[in-house]
Amino acid sequence: MTEPEPRVREFVRALPADALPAYVYDLTALSAHAAAVRAALPPHVELYYAAKANPEPRILAALAPHTDGFEVASGGELAHVAKAVPGHPLAFGGPGKTPTEIAAALDRGVRRCHVESLHELRTLAHLAAHPPRSAPARARPVGVLLRFNLAVPGELLSSGALAMAGRPAPFGLDPAEAGTAVRMLTDGSCPQLELVGVHAHLASGLAATELAAVAMAVADWTAALGRRYGVTLREVNVGGGMRVDYADPAARFDWAGYGAALARVAHAHPDVLLRVEPGRALTAYCGWYATEVLDVKHSHGEEFAVVRGGTHHLRTPATRGHDQPCAVLPVADWPYPWPRPGTGAGAVTFAGQLCTPKDVLARGVPVGGVRAGDRVAFALAGAYAWNISHHDFLMHPHPTVHFIAEARARA
Ligand SMILES: *Cc1c(COP(=O)(O)O)cnc(C)c1O
Repeated sequence: MTEPEPRVREFVRALPADALPAYVYDLTALSAHAAAVRAALPPHVELYYAAKANPEPRILAALAPHTDGFEVASGGELAHVAKAVPGHPLAFGGPGKTPTEIAAALDRGVRRCHVESLHELRTLAHLAAHPPRSAPARARPVGVLLRFNLAVPGELLSSGALAMAGRPAPFGLDPAEAGTAVRMLTDGSCPQLELVGVHAHLASGLAATELAAVAMAVADWTAALGRRYGVTLREVNVGGGMRVDYADPAARFDWAGYGAALARVAHAHPDVLLRVEPGRALTAYCGWYATEVLDVKHSHGEEFAVVRGGTHHLRTPATRGHDQPCAVLPVADWPYPWPRPGTGAGAVTFAGQLCTPKDVLARGVPVGGVRAGDRVAFALAGAYAWNISHHDFLMHPHPTVHFIAEARARA
């Protein structure tokens, strides 16, 4: 069980029944968390937010004051984020960029382009050299970071980490292509592009010490690449992937330890601008998926609570194979004349409304008791939650969306 903050608990209790299920985002908590993350990083390390984790406009707006920019990974995200937070610097990444998307990125004047292949680099160079007549003239070349699929030292990866690199993968350039890419950008053939550095988002779900070791390895590799080709690579984006522990929401990523380690990376590479681009670890904690128990059943020796909604709204536990942390908020009212379905203290599995055994939000949760009509708040639903879910499977209504934003206390 994961108890929500009192303001979240009160908000969920006060929601009218027909507003459930609901996504509730605690912007007060988000701002405080983002400010703390920013403060834990060395001042010269740039903090970008990977918008794919949760692109809600109000979340982007809450993050903007604490971040140096946003990473977008499609033409859709590019247009959406540029509209939600006009003027905030953008880095455009992602595999399989279409020529239309690349042209849109050039049009919008994205600050950084993360190039994932030689073909993409050639497309970018061609489009940058042949802008449409209507395009505003660019004052400066587009900053290019080459994304590489580098080997992550095996001992750095803990069992829970999803390695995206150092093995066959559709992400980034193969290190063997480094020479070709660097030469294309530095032989004078494309003055509209400027090679500024290297990008490497290598794994997700790493602890601070592991991620810091990856950052040092990437910075060292980048320095060696620069020396090999006699070029200055002054930016290193070490990606996101900071661990969020769904089994233990109180165990937060050690941002202070990571910040101290990044200061050591910066010290070893004094001419390099380091950038991080977390998604999950910034927004996961601010989101709650709140719903009500429709029914409680005893089935072959186990207790099941069926909630309104399910994994078509919150797919995260199904995709990751975890139990979404949650809290039961008891509701006294029972409007029917017949007995209220319920269970005493013990383990309960929370399932949704879909006709599939995969529609389970949390298995074997120890509760003090749960009854039909009680409310349930699922925690850590602020990242890769609503926006990765298959909303229209079975055609249930979509959840309502709410934001808690307390007025800032006056000084
Ligand atoms: C998804 C992604 C991120 C964010 O990853 P998290 O695990 O959410 O921190 C950062 N950079 C790139 C390139 C990504 O694809």
